[in-house]
This record gives sequence, C-alpha cells and structure tokens, in this order.
Amino acid sequence: MSNPYIEKAEEVILHTYNRYPVVFDRGEGVHLYDVDGREYLDFAAGIAVQSLGYNNQEYTQALKDQIDKLTHISNLYYTAPMMEAAEKVVKASGMSRVFFTNSGTEAIEGALKAARKYAYEKYGEERYEIIAMNHSFHGRSIGALSVTGNEKYQIPFRPLVPGIRFAEYNDLESVKAQITEKTCAVILETVQGEGGVYPATEAFLKGVKALCEERDMLLILDEIQCGMGRTGYMFAWQEYGVEPDIMTCAKAIGCGVPVGAFVLGEKAAKGSLKPGDHGTTYGGNPFVCAAVSKVFDLYEKEHILENVRTVGAYLTEQLDALVEKYDFLKERRGKGMIQGLEVTGRPVAEIVERALANGLVLITAGSSVLRFVPPLVITKEDVDCMVEKLERSFTASA
Ligand SMILES: *Cc1c(COP(=O)(O)O)cnc(C)c1O
Repeated sequence: MSNPYIEKAEEVILHTYNRYPVVFDRGEGVHLYDVDGREYLDFAAGIAVQSLGYNNQEYTQALKDQIDKLTHISNLYYTAPMMEAAEKVVKASGMSRVFFTNSGTEAIEGALKAARKYAYEKYGEERYEIIAMNHSFHGRSIGALSVTGNEKYQIPFRPLVPGIRFAEYNDLESVKAQITEKTCAVILETVQGEGGVYPATEAFLKGVKALCEERDMLLILDEIQCGMGRTGYMFAWQEYGVEPDIMTCAKAIGCGVPVGAFVLGEKAAKGSLKPGDHGTTYGGNPFVCAAVSKVFDLYEKEHILENVRTVGAYLTEQLDALVEKYDFLKERRGKGMIQGLEVTGRPVAEIVERALANGLVLITAGSSVLRFVPPLVITKEDVDCMVEKLERSFTASA
C-alpha cells in the first residue's frame, strides 16, 4: 500500500469495501489500464455493467452530444431521450410500461411498492406479504435488503420491512409452503448472481408463475445482473417463456451511467402506481436515457446476443474443461456470459488476487465461487487468454 492514491483514498472514503490494490485509469474494448499503464483483461465488466466494453465510440459520442444539449430537467416534463429509451425497453421485453430509476436497488424498491399497491387496490391493506428467496441479492437499501436472503447483510439493520417470507430457490414446494392469504408477490432473480450463480430451473420458474397466476400474486423477476443479453437472451426469462408481472433492470442497461428501471406488464401497469405514488428527481433524466437508448441500438448493430450465444458456448466448454482438469473446481454453473466456478478447499479470494497480479480482472460470488461476467463483446481469443491467465493464477502469483 505504498501507492499515494490508495493511501489518500483510505483517508477520505468510508471503508465499506475491501478494495483490491489497483488504481484504474481508463478502458479500451475488453481491457483496463491502471495509472501505471499496466493492461488487464476484464472478465468482471464493473460487475456485469460494461456489456459493450470500454470506450465504445458511438456510445461515448451519444453521451457527449447529450451533455451539450441537456443533462437533467426533472420528471415534471417530457424529453425525447426518455421516450426513446422507454420505447426500446418496451419493445425488447414485450411488456407495457417503464419507470426509470438511478440504480438497481431503487428498481427493486419501485417493484416492491408497485406489487403492494396492486394488492392494496384490489384486496385491501391486509395483503402485503412478499415471498423472497434464500441466497438472493436485491440491494442494500432497507427495502431491497429486506428481500435479500442473506443474514450477514441483514442482521445489523433489523428491524427490516415486515411481511417478507423466505423460500428456497429452485424448490417449488418451499414457495408453496410460504404462501398465505396475505401474499401479494414473489420476487426472485432469474439467475441468482451474487448468491453463487444459480440459474432457475425451468420447472421452478414455470411452477412459480403458475402459482402466481392461480392466486393473483405478482411475479417480480430481478434481471439486474442476468438481463440485458447476458444469458444470450435480451432478458433471461425469455428463454423460459415465463413473463414476469414486473421486471427490474439496471447494471448493463446503461453500460456505465447510473440508471435502472422497473418494467411492468399490463396488469401491474394498470392496477398499481398512480400519480403521486412514486417519484425520483434524477431518475430517467435525458443524459442517462440517451445512454440507454444508444445501448439498445448498439446491441442490435453489434449483434450482441449472437456473440453471447457463440462465445458464451465456448466459454462454457472451456470452463467445463477446467472443472475436469482441477480437483478443487467442483462445478461450473451459469448461462452464456454469467458463469461461476465453485471452488473447494482453497480460498477464492486468493485466486482473484493472483489473477489481478497476472493481469486478469475477476470477481467472486458468495464465499466460494469465481464469477465470470465479462463484457458481452469478448471473442474466443479473449476466452483463451483468460483461461491461460487463470490457470497461471491457480499455481503461482506473478
Ligand atoms: C447489483 C444487483 C442489485 C443492486 O443493484 P445496484 O445498482 O447495486 O443498486 C440488485 N439485484 C441484483 C440481482 C444485482 O445483481
């Protein structure tokens, strides 16, 4: 820790993160560069954010143009970027209405409020319970934390929002067991990210959807990490053919500007939040919406979904080969370009630190999983390069 930037940062920034000892300066494509000019291959993408890679010229130009016109104006008025961004979200999802937020956490807050409002309008104030999953992650605000099934994050902040019941992910019976006459919604990630990279099974997702329809509970799918093309589908639920009543987005929807959204199907859009029920000052301002709008255009122009399917399949193969080769790699889980390797018998943090020293940016998920959420523009050569650096990180530091 002799680096002066790091020493200064530790004097002024609240210590809520144990940061890696690197100071990043700029990015280009799938590579990052630190202040000393060292190059890193990035398989973390700012935690599943930088889908288009770094310094995409068309993207940055769109932001520069919007800065020169108007960055913020408030939700009391209309702007063209917001209209365009919302139209593209609606078209890509086939859903009905969008509310833009500043983060994923706020998208979760909005989704929970919309679900409770729907039930309140239709059934009165007794129907407020929400079923969430163990090992889930939905964010750090009191509301989002209340549906995050991780005691470590929750305990110091209790009491949390009342009326939340937890079930086991991919266990339909455990969801059934938590349903009462007060249940208004079920919230889950289509692919659990933070909790260790667990995709929903088809039977589970379809089963939960059927329960929700039967009892008029709203299905909230958190697509903040697994959405925006990461599984090879624009939204992970599209592969299952299970449309949520409400979906949450963030991370890659802005590819580097702070924006999220909750998106409502027709039933939830018509029957929940009304003027005065919800708001945000910055949410969906023309600056971030110019980014969202351009992101959707570039996904099409650069054939992002096709790339995730072909290179994602190759990544899957290569990771499976590593599991075959190394005893301490227990299994691979995931889809497309959201993948995890379960590590046993040795600390994952140590592998991630060595990888960084070898010029590879990786992150963990849970306490024992190496997580791979690269920019969606990576090539097979990038995968080969990653595997080479990773294998070196298994044995020695740089
Ligand atoms: C990152 C994440 C969130 C929280 O989003 P923020 O933008 O950090 O507030 C919520 N849900 C999932 C699945 C996430 O991966």
